Amino acid sequence: MDKQMEFVLRTIEERDVRFVRLWFTDVLGFLKSVAIAPAELEGAFNEGIGFDGSAIEGFARIQEADMVAHPDPSTFQLLPWRDQVQGTARMFCDIRLPDGSPSYADPRFVLKRALDKAADQGFTFYTHPEIEFFLLENTIVPGQPPTPVDSSGYFDHTPHGTSSDFRRRAITMLEQMGISVEFSHHEHAPGQQEIDLRYADALTMADNIMTFRVVIKEVAMAEGMRASFMPKPFTEHAGSGMHTHVSLFEGDSNAFYDASDEYHLSTTARQFIAGVLHHGAEISAVTNQWVNSYKRLAGGGEAPTHISWGRNNRSALVRVPMYKPSKSSSARVEIRSIDSAANPYLAYAVVLSAGLAGIQQQMELPEETAEDVWSMTERERRALGIGSLPRNLDEAVRIMEGSELVAETLGEHVFDYFLRNKRTEFESYRSQVTPWELNSLLPVL
Ligand code: GLN
Ligand code: MG
Ligand code: MG
Ligand code: MG
Repeated sequence: MDKQMEFVLRTIEERDVRFVRLWFTDVLGFLKSVAIAPAELEGAFNEGIGFDGSAIEGFARIQEADMVAHPDPSTFQLLPWRDQVQGTARMFCDIRLPDGSPSYADPRFVLKRALDKAADQGFTFYTHPEIEFFLLENTIVPGQPPTPVDSSGYFDHTPHGTSSDFRRRAITMLEQMGISVEFSHHEHAPGQQEIDLRYADALTMADNIMTFRVVIKEVAMAEGMRASFMPKPFTEHAGSGMHTHVSLFEGDSNAFYDASDEYHLSTTARQFIAGVLHHGAEISAVTNQWVNSYKRLAGGGEAPTHISWGRNNRSALVRVPMYKPSKSSSARVEIRSIDSAANPYLAYAVVLSAGLAGIQQQMELPEETAEDVWSMTERERRALGIGSLPRNLDEAVRIMEGSELVAETLGEHVFDYFLRNKRTEFESYRSQVTPWELNSLLPVL
């Protein structure tokens, strides 16, 4: 038994932990959890815990259902919202098949495989997300628009504010679980919050994002509210993005930094951006996986609609922060399409693969777009070679279908399952008669 496992077993004794939850994530990004008694843990470390994979969204076909969850001791944390006495702890798991090989359906494995590829080229992938979400009244009526808990806006400071108290509690809890928060504030829309996590390697970060979603929902419920990561809950307000700042390191040195460049961007960084733009439309179904995601990307609300990059430009898909980094370690680029309801493992895997393809094929970075892409005409955009992101899930899925890059990154099983599931989602949406149609058509037709 290795040192980390011993540490976990000892902590469980010392802290009187009563339940250990084993966490993993399904293909659509929903958290799954099974609680075991501490006495079972040694066995779980040695042999894993078996479960029915066919009952998990996207995991297995009925005839190959057996799967085994292997807890990763490096992710052990006590859950601060549970009782302190006889408490609860959690670990993320890697999912394997009964023969011990990694499960092709496990999103954590998909990301690990992409990170291994980066490692083969000498790179470590770091990410730093800005996570937006809504705080809503606890009176959600199905089919009705929700009510935000406040009517504040961007950076508003409200004394005794519900939201600032909420952010303080949530951040304290995140830090108790070893997740560092860098920045937090009220966002543009009523009830909308943003919390930015301090950068970490992409696997740790994807785990952190899964934990973040649970913590935010737990704290909201404890305060009699609801939190939602839905990309666009309100027609009239901006949606919730998960802008992610990314960089590649070679050992201790930031491969995106070049002091001699006018923007302090290395050739590697430029090629990475070029790759993300080149594959931008193909990876969209993964970074923006819901019918509702495309309502956020419909123009305005500071969310991208087209495939461009820029510096001080909020309409760009990829933005290079304007201020020149004083430390080489902080040179990075911001991917602005990803939304708060993406599966973070899969989203980071496809962004990384697209960037690496740019580096490998030494792609040329197109001209920076300085103007607002939204206010250009279609003709102007065409003249500048600015393509558009998919306008809905159907288009996104059709483009993804033809993508070798996404097929290879997700692996055949996840790729096929994902496409099938998303086609079904769109078909079910397509047949709905919406309030918009009833409001605008029934009176006149
Ligand atoms: N909410 C916007 C989005 O959906 C981002 C706003 C901002 O952070 N400037 O991407
Ligand atoms: Mg921000
Ligand atoms: Mg923001
Ligand atoms: Mg941002």
